[in-house]
Amino acid sequence: MTHPSLLSLDEALSRIKSAVQPITGNERIVLNAALGRTLAEEILSPVDVPAHTNSAMDGYAVIGSDLPTEGRVSLNVIGTSSAGHPFDGKLQPGQTVRIMTGAMLPQGADTVIMQEQVERDGEIAHIGTGHKPGQHVRHAGEDLATGQPVLKPGRKLTPADLGSLASLGFGEVSVKRRLRVAFFSTGDELRSIGEPLAEGEIYDSNRYTLHAMLTRLGIELVDMGVIRDRREAIKQAFLDAAAIADTVITSGGASVGEADYISETLAKLGQVDFWKIAIKPGKPLAFGTVGGTLFFGLPGNPVSAMVTFYQIVQPALLQQMGQNDTTPLRLRVPCTTDLKKRPGRTEFQRGMLQQDQNGNLTVSSSGAQGSHILSSMSRANCFIVLPAESAGVRAGEQVEVQPFSELI
Ligand code: AMP
Ligand code: MG
Repeated sequence: MTHPSLLSLDEALSRIKSAVQPITGNERIVLNAALGRTLAEEILSPVDVPAHTNSAMDGYAVIGSDLPTEGRVSLNVIGTSSAGHPFDGKLQPGQTVRIMTGAMLPQGADTVIMQEQVERDGEIAHIGTGHKPGQHVRHAGEDLATGQPVLKPGRKLTPADLGSLASLGFGEVSVKRRLRVAFFSTGDELRSIGEPLAEGEIYDSNRYTLHAMLTRLGIELVDMGVIRDRREAIKQAFLDAAAIADTVITSGGASVGEADYISETLAKLGQVDFWKIAIKPGKPLAFGTVGGTLFFGLPGNPVSAMVTFYQIVQPALLQQMGQNDTTPLRLRVPCTTDLKKRPGRTEFQRGMLQQDQNGNLTVSSSGAQGSHILSSMSRANCFIVLPAESAGVRAGEQVEVQPFSELI
């Protein structure tokens, strides 16, 4: 039930998705530099992992058919196999080898008995019933077989991925080049930190939130500062930004008068649409291209700029970076506070997700929800996502939340 003159969030996302192309250009880098980068090649396992069949326990390697069905069996201990020092020889019936976790299983052996379950008497090991032939053995190739795909292109590399690559002997990987994003703020009232504030002027905060959100994505940044509300200055800033960046992001200039003025300037430089999207906060968004460069114009209000960035711009940047589609996790939890809302737009209210003494999750409002109130955004650790048709929430009702930790 979206307001008819507004574009639904899903429609905006799908229009952007079909307009965005992944950037081209890869580089080979060492593993220690690859965390968070986008993998640009398919990794196939060049070896079996584990490379050798080995023991999962400290104990004794035996032949399964030697194990007794009643009473106990006495085996000759003929040697030791420890990690990195395999036993050099073949086990015959009636024999056993002392073995450590991770050590190669000797030839002939197929089963390991935990050391606590073996009675050792000089060179003899006594073993009772209750063991299964084949137990406590890790088979060669059981984690990965030679030639099996390990990682696919488009993956954002994690610490575990880097460990897997190292375990296969890869010292370098091919990744997508970094995405380059230029950004600036527009507004005659904005001053940079360190400058004195005249009556009615404020410090520019959006460049700091943008800088931080882009940094977390591993993007190369070009901070172009504050641009005055002058036709020539804005035009020049766009041309400069488009010449050096894959994407340009601006904030401000979204109110009715200013938007007309910016859209006029942009119409001459490229293809730009101004959308009113059915979300709160953050209704206005400009989207288009200037030359081969993508452009997003965010609303100026600090919380609107952040919400619009996370919900709309970030998925597009990930797509440009060549990363596979991943939908951030959402949870359904009871809300402990009333939430005010009118039907018509999807709202991203700011919430605090917490765990009570019994381990149950609940969420509460982080406070005043004005689109200019950064303190309640700062206090929050999640978005409370209220669907367009919702007419508010009573304490105790279930709501959907999107933890901020899911957004990076
Ligand atoms: P605008 O979209 O330019 O109409 O701005 C909407 C509101 O956001 C106004 O109150 C602006 O002063 C404020 N605003 C715009 N840009 C910024 C910025 N970079 N940092 C902080 N506040 C801003
Ligand atoms: Mg403005």
